[in-house]
Amino acid sequence: MTTANRMWGLDAPKMRIDAAHLVFGGEGTVDIPLPAHVIEHERGLVLFDTGMNPIVNEDPRLLFGDRPEADWIISSPEKRLDTQLGMLGYSTSDITHVVLSHTHCDHSGGLYMFPQATFYIGQGEFDWGRAPDEKSAHLFAPDDFLSANVQSFNWTTVTSAGLDIFGDGSMQIVHLPGHTPGSLGLLTRLPSQNVLLTGDAAHVRENLEWEKADPSDWDYGQAEASIRKILQVAEDEDARIWIPHEPKDWDAFGGVRVEVS
Ligand SMILES: [Zn+2]
Repeated sequence: MTTANRMWGLDAPKMRIDAAHLVFGGEGTVDIPLPAHVIEHERGLVLFDTGMNPIVNEDPRLLFGDRPEADWIISSPEKRLDTQLGMLGYSTSDITHVVLSHTHCDHSGGLYMFPQATFYIGQGEFDWGRAPDEKSAHLFAPDDFLSANVQSFNWTTVTSAGLDIFGDGSMQIVHLPGHTPGSLGLLTRLPSQNVLLTGDAAHVRENLEWEKADPSDWDYGQAEASIRKILQVAEDEDARIWIPHEPKDWDAFGGVRVEVS
């Protein structure tokens, strides 16, 4: 079976957040990374998520104004996504495919940087982003994904059947609804291991250990079904799970810009 070549998790701003916002029953605070991952395949360079709008790295107030989130962000200029790609020897124009796990502002802020790419989004995600409920409206920056520019990009909708990006089994998008209607994960086969990026279908390990949703989830029943699907896919495919917001998983995979292959 064909594999992708290698993967990196990129350095990114962090958010200091109450764990109770990430999983029912969570306690204490946790500094969660707000990252993008990049995967090199012989036929393209794939980005999974795009982080927050890069202006947050200059000053969180440029993005959040007086909102409390401005005080929760830990950022610095070198954490810009384009700068991080440059540290690996790539430029934004090298990205051929972007998988957007969902439209929340900590994932969709850099979409505008990749006009040449093919984009993947889950079914129902744009509709939800246009008209979210009161509970989750603060999680969106609508211009990230509803601007005429970004909407004009080459978007492909991923349904519950999932999608095989290169048709060779090496990179499969997995539909994981519940956090939002169109939440997506990505299963990547690498030369020595398989890795399942969960997107925000899990935020921290406790979501998986307790099979518990996140209070901000769109649909708790579907979120918990997707948590069970993550565990099942990992078992069936012998895949390591990487939860992008979970600091412990970054330790397990070796940290930022460490090659995973
Ligand atoms: Zn997130």
